[in-house]
Amino acid sequence: MALLAIVMGSAEPLVPITHLTSAQTSANSIPLTNPRFYNSEPLSDPFTGGESLAAPTNVELPILMYHHVGELPYNADTIRRGLTVSTANFETQMRFLWEKGYKTVSLGTLLTALQGREGLPSQAIILTFDDGYKDNFQNAYPILKRYGFTATFFVIARYIGRPEYLSQEDIREMVTGGMFVEAHGLTHIDLTTIPPAALPKEILEARQNIEAYTGQQVRFFSYPSGRYNETIIKVLRENNFWGAVTTHYGRQHSLDDAFQLKRIRVSGSDSLATFAAKLGGR
Ligand SMILES: [Zn+2]
Repeated sequence: MALLAIVMGSAEPLVPITHLTSAQTSANSIPLTNPRFYNSEPLSDPFTGGESLAAPTNVELPILMYHHVGELPYNADTIRRGLTVSTANFETQMRFLWEKGYKTVSLGTLLTALQGREGLPSQAIILTFDDGYKDNFQNAYPILKRYGFTATFFVIARYIGRPEYLSQEDIREMVTGGMFVEAHGLTHIDLTTIPPAALPKEILEARQNIEAYTGQQVRFFSYPSGRYNETIIKVLRENNFWGAVTTHYGRQHSLDDAFQLKRIRVSGSDSLATFAAKLGGR
């Protein structure tokens, strides 16, 4: 708690909280189920670090994709309705996952599992949020904490601090609470529409900004509007990203697809029955 108070009480300009991981993992009181401990310990670079202890393996695991969690504005259009899961529905979905014994893991853990270097809990699931909306912090984060879940938030670096988007402080608090913040581009421009020479700025400047706020390495990318090509994947690979998520539907993953990870969209119109069906009937 003292650590948290120091972090929360620090004044501008924000100082990266790089000391958090070592401080937390060295504390005897952290249980093995602590998400930061669980996720930070086994992560050497899945592509260049450490030895491969086993053959790559395929994994079935739902990666859920959320956007807004909250109430709809009065003038919400069809797109906004589709992208918005009400807070009540989100709570119901998280309670359902908890009751069914699902365990949230990080994308890093999935990658090491795909390499055959780490096992996964039998009911493993990954929760992701795109765009970095303020309501993720206000509405989703308290519920995630209640159930002991972690999630990955893909934020648009330039939008941090704008009205309706996560602030630096929101991000720091969520990271301190065990959440992961990864990159969704600098400006959310469709990367397939810009010259290849402009890709490093959109990808690497976004990473730099986010890392300065979180003190965590950014290792994963969510393609803006789900659009990508081989050139974009090449830039990610060459800059030591570990993987990227798409908007393609599916829950089967292999190491070959690390930069084309499939997800399952949770929509505003999902009932608990359709939500449960999307998980794969487990
Ligand atoms: Zn987006």
